[in-house]
Amino acid sequence: MNLKYRNILGVVVILALVGAVLAGAFFRDSRNTQPEFMEYAAFIEAVAYGRVKSVSLGDGAMLRFTLADSEASYTTNNPRRGDFKEFLLLAGISVSESTTTGEGLLQIGVTIALVAGLFFFIRRRTSAGMAKAGLTPVTVKPHGQKLCGFDDVAGNLEAKENVKDIVDYLKEPERFARYGARMPRGILFHGKPGTGKTLMARAMAGEAGVPFHAVSGSDFVQMYVGVGAARVRDLFKKAREAGRGVIFIDEIDALGKKRSDGVNGNDEREQTLNALLTEMQGFSEGTGIVVVAATNRPDILDEALLRPGRFDRRVEIGLPDMNARRAILDLHSQGKPLSREIDLDKLARDTVFFSGAMLEGLLNDAAIGAARRGGEDILPEDITTAYYTALAGSEKKDRSAIRDHERAITAWHESGHALAAVLSDPENRVAKVTIIPSTSGAGGFCATIPPERMYYTKQDLRRQIKISLAGRAAEELRFGEDNVTTGASNDIEKATTTAMQYVSKFGMGTGIADRALLKDNRKVAVESAALTDTLYRETLILLQKNYSALEALAERLLTKETLDGDEVAEIIDSCA
Ligand code: ADP
Ligand code: ZN
Repeated sequence: MNLKYRNILGVVVILALVGAVLAGAFFRDSRNTQPEFMEYAAFIEAVAYGRVKSVSLGDGAMLRFTLADSEASYTTNNPRRGDFKEFLLLAGISVSESTTTGEGLLQIGVTIALVAGLFFFIRRRTSAGMAKAGLTPVTVKPHGQKLCGFDDVAGNLEAKENVKDIVDYLKEPERFARYGARMPRGILFHGKPGTGKTLMARAMAGEAGVPFHAVSGSDFVQMYVGVGAARVRDLFKKAREAGRGVIFIDEIDALGKKRSDGVNGNDEREQTLNALLTEMQGFSEGTGIVVVAATNRPDILDEALLRPGRFDRRVEIGLPDMNARRAILDLHSQGKPLSREIDLDKLARDTVFFSGAMLEGLLNDAAIGAARRGGEDILPEDITTAYYTALAGSEKKDRSAIRDHERAITAWHESGHALAAVLSDPENRVAKVTIIPSTSGAGGFCATIPPERMYYTKQDLRRQIKISLAGRAAEELRFGEDNVTTGASNDIEKATTTAMQYVSKFGMGTGIADRALLKDNRKVAVESAALTDTLYRETLILLQKNYSALEALAERLLTKETLDGDEVAEIIDSCA
C-alpha cells in the first residue's frame, strides 16, 4: 500500500467514524424487522466474494449486515476484534457503528449522504485496487487470434522441451486418459524475476488453445482465516467451469512457504495452502486443467507442495545465455526501426546476467529515447543510454551539482576497478566505465563482464575480490590513505562476502576440510580478514606498477565521462 493510498484510507476511516456516530439514529429506527442469522464462516465467505453491502458494528455479541443482492438484513456473531472494522472497510463494505444515538432529521439526512458517499468512494477504490492486484482471475479466451505461443518465447529451449507433453495433454486430455497416463497436475517454474515464467505459462495455454487463468499467490494471503481458502475454491470453480485450461499462480511462495515449526503458525496461510492442495487432488484424470506455479525461491517452499500428485514437475526457467539473449533481442526488436550501426551480437555479449524482461526493457527504452528525439531510427546512442539505465538506474540530469573534486574521486575509483579487471584476467571484459551518477546513488560505475563459467577457480575468486577492492586502492594511491571515501562501502562489503565464502563455503582457505574452521565463525572472520588485507595490498602494488595507465584512464574519464571496453583497452595499451 503506498503512502498516498494510506493517507486516503486514513481520511476514509475518519469519515466513517463521523458517519457512524451520526448513523446511530438512522439504524435505531430500522431495528424493528427481525433479521435472519447467518453462520460466521458463511458471512466471511460472503465478504470474500464482495457480497456484503453494509455492516452495523457495535459492542454486542451480534452484528447486523445487509447483502448487496437482497433487501433483508442479517445477523452473525461479532468477533469483537480490534482490526475488524478495518478489515471490512478494506473489503469495500460500508461500516456503521451502532453505539451512539443521534437525533433529528438533519442528522439522518447528513448520515445517509455520508454513508452513501463513503460507500461509493470505498467501493470504487477497492474494486480498482482489487483488479490491479489481479484478484479477479484473468481469462484469456482461446477464440479469435492466437494470443501467445512458443514462438513468443525466445531461448528457454530446455524448458519448452519439458512442457511439450503438457501442451499435448491440454489439447487432448481424453487421449491421455484412455491410455491411463497420469499427467502432472502441477508444474513449478522456478527462476529469477523477469526470466519469462509467466510468458511460458501463457504460451502453454496459447499453444494448446485453452484459457489462461492468472492469479498471484499474494492475493490469497489475507488477514482473516478462511478468506484465502474461499478465494482458492472460487478460482478453481471458475476454471472448471471454463473447461480445459492453465491456472497460473505467480509467487506461489507467498502462500506455500515452509511452515514455521509450531509457534503461532499462520492459520490463514495454512488453510489457503490446504485448500489449494485439496482442489488439485480433486481433479479427476482427464480434466485437462494444469496448474502452473512460479517462484524465484523454490528453496523456501513447503514440501507438501512438491509431493507426487501436486507440483511434482519442476522446470527451471533460467537467465538467458548469450545465444538466448541474442534471440530475445531479435524478437523484441521486431517492429522497431533499428539503425544498421547497432550491433545486436555485441549487445548480447554485453548483457551477461540480464533477464529477458531487462532486455525487452532495454530495447523499449531505446525506442522511447529515439521517439523523444524524433530521429528516423533508433541509434546506437539510444541503446547505450538504455543500457546504462538498465545497469545503474537512470542518468541524473543535473551533473553540475557534483563538485569537481568528487568527480575526480569517482574517476580514479572507477579507473581502479577497470584497470584491475583488465590486468588481472585477460578474459575479463570491461563493458563500460562511467562517472555519470545514477539515481541509485552510486557516483559512477564500472561494468566488468566475467567470462561465463560453470565453476569459478580459487584464482577467479581472488581476482574478483581484487577488482572489488581496486576502487578504494586507486583512491588511496591518488589522494592518500586518509582521504579515501565512503564511496567504496559496497565494494568492501562485496569483497568481504566473497572472502568469507572463499574461506568457509568453498574451503579454499588454509586446510581444505578443516571442519572446525568451517563451523567457527570467529576463525572464518579472522582468516577472511587476513585474506582481504593481503589481496588489498596486492591490488595496491598492481595499480602502483601501472600508475600511468591508471592516471590516463582517470583523466580520460574526467573529460569524456564514459568509456567503453575498447577505449579502456586502448588507453591501457598505450601506457604499457
Ligand atoms: P517472470 O514471470 O519470470 O517474472 P515474465 O514472463 O513476466 O517474467 O517476463 C516479462 C517480460 O519479459 C515478458 O513479457 C517478455 O516481454 C520478456 N521476456 C522474458 N523472457 C523472455 C523470453 N525468453 N523471450 C522473450 N521475451 C521474454
Ligand atoms: Zn567501486
